[in-house]
Amino acid sequence: MALSTDVTTSVQPVTVPTSWLAGSAAANSSAHLATSPLSIDEIEALFNLPFSDLIHRAQTVHRAHHDANKVQLSTLLSIKTGGCSEDCGYCPQAARYHTEVENEAMLDLATVVATAKLAKENGASRFCMGAAWRGPKQRDLDPVLDMVREVKALGLETCCTLGMLKDGQAEQLKKAGLDYYNHNLDTAPEFYGEVITTRDYQDRLDTLGRVRDAGMNVCSGGIVGMGESQRERAGLIAQLANLDPQPDSVPINYLVQVEGTPLHDKMAGEKAIDWTEFVRTIAVARITMPKSFVRLSAGRQEMNEATQAMCFLAGANSIFYGEKLLTTGNPDVTRDRALFEKLGISPL
Ligand code: SF4
Repeated sequence: MALSTDVTTSVQPVTVPTSWLAGSAAANSSAHLATSPLSIDEIEALFNLPFSDLIHRAQTVHRAHHDANKVQLSTLLSIKTGGCSEDCGYCPQAARYHTEVENEAMLDLATVVATAKLAKENGASRFCMGAAWRGPKQRDLDPVLDMVREVKALGLETCCTLGMLKDGQAEQLKKAGLDYYNHNLDTAPEFYGEVITTRDYQDRLDTLGRVRDAGMNVCSGGIVGMGESQRERAGLIAQLANLDPQPDSVPINYLVQVEGTPLHDKMAGEKAIDWTEFVRTIAVARITMPKSFVRLSAGRQEMNEATQAMCFLAGANSIFYGEKLLTTGNPDVTRDRALFEKLGISPL
């Protein structure tokens, strides 16, 4: 996508198409979405804008496409925890790493439905079910299809993250009533091999293609703070923003360094990126994926209220809501409500 029309300040070389900013018909159709690829250079230049200019642009794009004071709430439940055969370097659920996460059996249907009901009562509009698998076998998928049907019947949007999908599985999930499928690209292709070796980048893109072809909404994002460079963060955003169509939901995770995982050892407890760089990542995601819901995801527990507020200002308009985020902590509901109250934010 050519960034050719500067509609904001003239001090920076990177510009944003008018359609991303105006509440015009073009901005409200899908016609403005990527028709030619955004380059990593263009995205990196956005990262390097002065902070105030970047936030201003992100907020302007955000307001053209979304209600700036509404945040979508998703609750995530781990329906099958631990024992995963993959080697994602950040993940405490990988069987090969010695973490405190145990291999557990799949939750039963009644437990999942009761949790979903509670999530709805607490204000969540979407219920995400996650399983620690390389991908679901058919015997695993069948009970998940029941969960999707029952959760959908509660009037919640449904989302699953089950790993790689084979031919036909996305269609089964769609038929059961699944609205969203999450499968993150995690990072830029250039850095990917530093984090995961048991599946390749193309496997991830193939799963996203199956989800899209089955008519479901794509939820795909990544993790920052894993030791990647800013250019590699820009590379992740380029991959996501150049998906056609762009993902409906874009979770941006800040690495939670869990003891026993390779990335915990590698990062040695040091914060890999400053909070301003995390906020920049949110802002760049917002500018380049104007219609997507950008989700402030893992790592929120480690963020103070001011940083979270900056993320909302930068265009984040979705959070995971509830006590647990798969196996790591998440700010509790009471704290989230208090923050929303202070910021005048209400749930979508
Ligand atoms: S991130 Fe998912 S696929 Fe990777 S090890 Fe963890 S549970 Fe398995």
